[in-house]
Amino acid sequence: MSDRSVAALIVGGGAAGAACAEALHEGGFDGDVLLIGREPDPPYERPPASKGYLAGAQDRDACLFHDADWYARRSIELAPRTSVMRLDTGARTATLSTKEVIEFGVALVATGANVRRLRVDGAQLEGIHYLRALGNADAIRADALAAEHVVLAGGSYIACEVAATLTALGRRCTMVMLEDAPLSAHFGPTAGGFFGALLREHGVELVCGDGLERVEGDTRARRVVCASGRELAADMVVMGTGVTPDVLLARSAGLELGDTGGVACGADLETSVRGIWAAGDMCEYDSVLHGGRVRIEHHEVARAQGAAVAAAMLGTRRPYSEMPYFWSDLSDWCTAEWVGTTEAPEHEIVRGSVQDGTFSLLHLAGGRLVSALSVGRAEDLAHARRLIAARTDLSGREHELAHGDLDAV
Ligand SMILES: Cc1cc2nc3c(=O)[nH]c(=O)nc-3n(C[C@H](O)[C@H](O)[C@H](O)COP(=O)(O)OP(=O)(O)OC[C@H]3O[C@@H](n4cnc5c(N)ncnc54)[C@H](O)[C@@H]3O)c2cc1C
Repeated sequence: MSDRSVAALIVGGGAAGAACAEALHEGGFDGDVLLIGREPDPPYERPPASKGYLAGAQDRDACLFHDADWYARRSIELAPRTSVMRLDTGARTATLSTKEVIEFGVALVATGANVRRLRVDGAQLEGIHYLRALGNADAIRADALAAEHVVLAGGSYIACEVAATLTALGRRCTMVMLEDAPLSAHFGPTAGGFFGALLREHGVELVCGDGLERVEGDTRARRVVCASGRELAADMVVMGTGVTPDVLLARSAGLELGDTGGVACGADLETSVRGIWAAGDMCEYDSVLHGGRVRIEHHEVARAQGAAVAAAMLGTRRPYSEMPYFWSDLSDWCTAEWVGTTEAPEHEIVRGSVQDGTFSLLHLAGGRLVSALSVGRAEDLAHARRLIAARTDLSGREHELAHGDLDAV
């Protein structure tokens, strides 16, 4: 028995959920749309939480995709501070934390990801932070204003961005990472060397090839001890230790899961249950572009997948084939942009000068371009997108790729 019914249910008020609601409205969806999110704010962008919002340069409203009125004016019902507790795929009902039972026609499950918590001694001490929501950024900023030494665990973009933002605010930041260089796991050693040098140049201390073993202090974090035995002063610690897809609801609903831990979807992002789609960080789909199953944790991908699901709900089903795009800002020191299908290249070509901080790294596998990272050469990315999508055979054209006009390639 349901309390009421809606034509489209969107579970998760994040990047993917909001994009789906927007695209349903733009596409003239004929029916009620209910967007349920457990956070207090209307859907917002997470990227500023490690950048402008954390720095205090961007206010909360500026992070929202739209204010609450925007949704109301478009007859999109927004239910913040509400969780979907149960999804019955047979009866096609959702039970909410308010106890209301909603019957739905079609649904998007876009529940995002949860931070991966480090289980080490001292993990419960005050002053240890994770970053996923604006509320986490508020807590980090408040603590950082009183802290002198900040330790960041991890060498990926969250730790790098937070280190850069807090360093620019005058904190002394030390990053501890298993990798040999920051961002090298995603972008390779050349990029890692560049980002490492940039961070050091601005005063960030890097401890590479080492792990965070434990945190010490009385009630509050005071010291980080690394696996090597090295000790680092720490008034606070920010963990940038990755995320895991949030499939709690999907699993209990019996949706099929995939190898990466996401919800297994077909090429058009539909789950194992007809009329229920997934999108964003928890969506593992059969990618025509990658030639296999992938799950991608990037903002623009979540947005594009949300819009693609809306198109499917509106009647246009097609394989999702957008080229993944990612960007990262290290304070105002540099912006890196990436496009591509894989992060495991066989061969790298440098355009421009890494030393001067204006370069693109073209990554090839099997004679074809598979990804490109660009710092200060955004124009290269458009060509890279084209060459990756066309699967152009670039064997023997290394010189042209490094020094030539990409227009002509
Ligand atoms: C600090 C930070 C900085 C980032 N910077 C970048 C960047 O520079 N570039 C980039 O490309 N990507 C960046 N990302 C990644 C990007 O933000 C994510 O890929 C994107 O938010 C994924 O969108 P999503 O809709 O899948 O999930 P989310 O945005 O996480 O939204 C999912 C929502 O669903 C809610 N939810 C979960 N379960 C339920 C339930 N049962 N009922 C109701 N609601 C539920 C969650 O609370 C959450 O609000 C960043 C991420 C973070 C955290």
